[in-house]
Amino acid sequence: MNRRPPIAVAIFASSIALASFAFGQARTIVLDAGHGGYDRGGVPGQRISEKDKTLDVAQRLRRILQADGYRVIMTRDSDVFVPLPTRVAIANSYRGASFVSIHFNCASRVGANGIETYYYRSDSASLAASIHRNVVSGAPSENRGIRQRGFYVLRRTAIPSVLVECGFLTNPTEGRLALTGDYRQRLAEQIARGIRRQPAPYTRPLTASLRSVSLGNDFVRVPAESFSRHRRSSKSSHHHVSSKKKSSDESSGRKKKSRKKKSED
Ligand SMILES: [Zn+2]
Repeated sequence: MNRRPPIAVAIFASSIALASFAFGQARTIVLDAGHGGYDRGGVPGQRISEKDKTLDVAQRLRRILQADGYRVIMTRDSDVFVPLPTRVAIANSYRGASFVSIHFNCASRVGANGIETYYYRSDSASLAASIHRNVVSGAPSENRGIRQRGFYVLRRTAIPSVLVECGFLTNPTEGRLALTGDYRQRLAEQIARGIRRQPAPYTRPLTASLRSVSLGNDFVRVPAESFSRHRRSSKSSHHHVSSKKKSSDESSGRKKKSRKKKSED
């Protein structure tokens, strides 16, 4: 039998692989599963622990990315506590990589739900937008927008860095979904689509209560007043910033937002 077609297929496949890396995208991804060890994540007494859901999504995402030919580094691969400076040091030891931190959200208000994605430096904005749009389009959740915020792992990393909050474990619907492997697999697949810069199947409009601050798409800087309301009502992500640094991070974040920069996406 003629064996040439498989070779042609192999050449075609490898040219697709090269093309997918053609736009300066990182071939190495540092995956950061939030929390771990004694740090369960979320609020004290939260029924569904965050640390094992973040690790499971990160491990699923690693398998998907490795199958695509990416090199994947994990800041943790088991239930251990890894200090934030160690996570940053791991990320910064891979030049040319991108850093993706995976978290789930929590709030004192059980109705709070949705996906939000954070970045800090402008070199991370397009990756944040790509991941956010894909995760939102694959989730039956609200679109809480893309936000610029000085979380430690975003501020101290020297490579493009994104933190994605994959829904609220304190919300009955999103919490139930996060308990299923099928849904965590879907989250991993959508984050992988974002890392590959694939277009999102469709764009879900920004959550109504946040729409007034939209810049015409889902790429949004939340202004100070709704930002502080969000912090009070949801306590979201308080655990990503050391308390010493928090107030200065927040005020610098506000200054940035008030400049009303246009979307870099
Ligand atoms: Zn978290």
